[in-house]
Amino acid sequence: MTTLRFMMSDLATTRQLSSSVGDYLKAIWEVAGTGGASTNDVAVRLSVAPASVTNMFGRLREMGLVEYERYRGAFLTERGLEEALRLLRRHRLIETFLLEHLGYPWKGVHEEAERLEHAVSDVFAQRLAEFLGSPERDPYGDPIPRADGTLAPEESWLLDQTKVGERVRAYRVQTSPIIG
Ligand SMILES: [Zn+2]
Repeated sequence: MTTLRFMMSDLATTRQLSSSVGDYLKAIWEVAGTGGASTNDVAVRLSVAPASVTNMFGRLREMGLVEYERYRGAFLTERGLEEALRLLRRHRLIETFLLEHLGYPWKGVHEEAERLEHAVSDVFAQRLAEFLGSPERDPYGDPIPRADGTLAPEESWLLDQTKVGERVRAYRVQTSPIIG
């Protein structure tokens, strides 16, 4: 009995660790893309203490997912980037599904997608993409990474950078300084 309980709690820890690893990779991508993400920016993004971020950056480096230097921040390695985009793909497909098919209001879809993205398999994500008609963008206008890990090029700019009288089409809603 004792042994079983020990194993169960071990499993729970492993699952929690892997989803938080994913959240960090995604946060690094969202605040810095392939550039260096600072401890503070990632801390703000994830609402955690900077010390926890420093700690996790060290662990991600050991796992080969980031390159990290104290004063330059964390850079995703090829493997780290692949994992970040895989999660982002799931996240944005799930958000699209919740908004377009389950009647979710805009507020609340992000949190729901945050939870679900860790629970679904690659097969589910692929079926979901097909069900949705393989969208290139989510309802916010954010690009959905493709299954091969590529991303549609960003062609939008902020409305305040538009010249007076210029005709534009608004197709992307940025809800915070950082996308997601
Ligand atoms: Zn979201």
